[in-house]
Amino acid sequence: LIQLAIPLNFIGFVYREIRQGLTDIEHMFDLLDVRAEVVDRPNASELVIGKGAIAFKDVHFAYDAARPILKGITFEVPAGKTVAVVGPSGAGKSTLSRLLYRFYDVQEGAITIDGQDVRTVTQKSLRSVIGMVPQDTVLFNDTIAYNIRYGRVSASEAEVEAAAEAAQIAEFIRTLPEGFQAMVGERGLKLSGGEKQRVAIARTILKAPPILILDEATSALDTRTEQEIQSALDVVSRNRTTLVIAHRLSTVINADEIIVLKDGVIAERGTHGELIDRDGLYASMWSRQREATQAEEQLKRVRESD
Ligand code: ATP
Repeated sequence: LIQLAIPLNFIGFVYREIRQGLTDIEHMFDLLDVRAEVVDRPNASELVIGKGAIAFKDVHFAYDAARPILKGITFEVPAGKTVAVVGPSGAGKSTLSRLLYRFYDVQEGAITIDGQDVRTVTQKSLRSVIGMVPQDTVLFNDTIAYNIRYGRVSASEAEVEAAAEAAQIAEFIRTLPEGFQAMVGERGLKLSGGEKQRVAIARTILKAPPILILDEATSALDTRTEQEIQSALDVVSRNRTTLVIAHRLSTVINADEIIVLKDGVIAERGTHGELIDRDGLYASMWSRQREATQAEEQLKRVRESD
């Protein structure tokens, strides 16, 4: 009976957790110890982190064998540098970040961190060195302080507040009647996409990982929010090896290298200036986005003057 009671108890626990709206994928993976697609090798070692250099070597990947997504991707993110990946929707940008975090395994080629193939190390040790700021952060139904402290549960109140400050979200939190104790999530206060992303950044600042993956939200942000998020990201990515999946070209201007992904291959690469001079795909994406931003701002001015 005990043998039956324990799993039943566990299922009850899991059910309650799920009901609470615990949909943060990273947390779910930790909690249930479930691997959707990949498992540790029997002899998997602990990742030995040095300066955090990342290399993608001839990476091939398909979710469905009939439709290859990545067809031989090779690039490096040197330790402490920032590489941004841009390209049309569906090009496979976010897939690169999922492979680095090892939600899936590459089918050909390899991804290494400080020379160690991510398939040969434990997922726990891999994920402990990576901070992930996802496109859409799902918050726990708990206080805003809890949601930030999740980055490092041992953090003090002062550290939580300092992280919120650095992530440019503290000012907003102070406007809430209950401040850091305000309940958020599905049953609490609904935060905007930009606010949620800044909570995720604060969480990552507390975790202080050597490697960072930033998957930008696709949704349009107003200029002020965009600037606030940008300066929060600048703080968190300083001196960290950073892979940015960029949807807004304003984020990529200062990247050490920009990778332009199209149809499963790297179509162009270089710095912002080099790619503008080249007058190719990146340059046309850039001018299209600038026109869209200008049109949006013009529309806003017209509305404001009405
Ligand atoms: P966007 O800019 O729109 O976010 P992206 O370049 O990040 O796009 P990915 O999310 O990497 O694109 O997806 C690449 C392709 O893989 C898309 O065509 C997508 O439909 C497909 N895809 C993504 N996730 C899965 C999945 N879990 N199963 C099957 N196909 C998937």
